[in-house]
Amino acid sequence: MTITLNDCRALDAQDPLRSLRDLFALPPGVIYLDGNSLGVLPITAAARVADVVTREWGTDLIQSWNKNHWFELPQRVGDKIARLIGAGPGEVVATDTTSINLYKVLSAALNIAAQDAPTRRQIVSERSNFPTDLYIAEALCKERGFELVLVEPEGVRQALTAQVAVLMLTHVNYRTGAMHDMAAVTAAAHAEGALMVWDLAHSAGAVPVDLHAARADFAVGCGYKYLNGGPGAPAFVWVNPMHTDRCWQPLAGWWGHAAPFAFTPDYQPAPGITRYQCGTQPIISLAALDCGLDATLAAESLGGMSALRKKSLALTDLFIQLVEVRCAGHGLGLATPDDHQQRGSQVCLTRSDGAYAIVQALIQRGVVGDFRAGDGDRHPDILRFGFTPLYLGFEDVWHAVEQLRHVLESSEWKQPEFNQKHAVT
Ligand SMILES: *Cc1c(COP(=O)(O)O)cnc(C)c1O
Repeated sequence: MTITLNDCRALDAQDPLRSLRDLFALPPGVIYLDGNSLGVLPITAAARVADVVTREWGTDLIQSWNKNHWFELPQRVGDKIARLIGAGPGEVVATDTTSINLYKVLSAALNIAAQDAPTRRQIVSERSNFPTDLYIAEALCKERGFELVLVEPEGVRQALTAQVAVLMLTHVNYRTGAMHDMAAVTAAAHAEGALMVWDLAHSAGAVPVDLHAARADFAVGCGYKYLNGGPGAPAFVWVNPMHTDRCWQPLAGWWGHAAPFAFTPDYQPAPGITRYQCGTQPIISLAALDCGLDATLAAESLGGMSALRKKSLALTDLFIQLVEVRCAGHGLGLATPDDHQQRGSQVCLTRSDGAYAIVQALIQRGVVGDFRAGDGDRHPDILRFGFTPLYLGFEDVWHAVEQLRHVLESSEWKQPEFNQKHAVT
């Protein structure tokens, strides 16, 4: 059955989440398929940030730590994130970056492993994990005398031996959009005696996550992707309460102290997740992230994460089907799993040549996706399209595919201006 523009419009008319789009300042004429890289500005964020700057900072100055509740902002924002990832209140803080939080939790996991299973000397991860995760793990392994073992996704279970202290995976792969079965993989790690660290950078706010149901040990994630927290938004960290008070995290700064304003020379870690804070937090950025979370949590009264997931799959299904039919014969492949159980909220297309230029030509036409370089046959170049169900509609998908078809049919992408690489792709 062929899908038409009118079918897409009908899907939008029936969409119970349609009104959420009005919470975002989408630039006119842009179909934004890069919310997995930098989420869209929530309408409330500009005024909230202005208020934090002019009134809270400008007028209330240092009193704001108490009066405007700056001091607890990482916990309050963390509690909102917790609702999206199956964590309890008081278990998440919004703080630092994903890279830094990963360093903290990996290090804590190694401390716990040192107590419970000192003969285990490996961290296992996926070779195609987001590189910063691998760099952090590599640095920590060097520092602590551990070995970092990298495998392909299908090799994860085989790599779980009696040597493994920690399995560290990203739930949804940034390049392919492939999603792990969190509960099953965590159970497999535990069955082999390893601790499980999840990176939720491409999951939080995009797909349902239930850290408690999965019995995960540690998790980190990103604030500026599907949580729409703005450029460089604080990331988040969660630790299973059974581990939180067992050890220090390595960046034992004063914001993680039990009594920071006692100014004692020795360190006493705060109970609970607060000990995963290090130093003074970026209040202006936290306020913007808070607005992004409010916009995401507005979905709660409309069916919540399961409604968002249903729409996300409908959007990605539609995109895949339309590309197959309308862009047939143009050498595009699909890197994202067709199986819903294994698909995040993005679709990645492959092409042996011109992927970068095609993405640039699309951006020129108002369809913003991005390019991720491959490294040969196993990982070809990728045209990456993220689908944030909060603000995208089915008609957007139609127009995006029509622009892609045009760029391919006209060979517009071959123009030199689209073939010049920028610093950030
Ligand atoms: C986006 C992303 C990051 C980003 O880390 P930063 O410290 O915020 O730069 C880390 N890991 C994964 C898997 C990501 O997708």
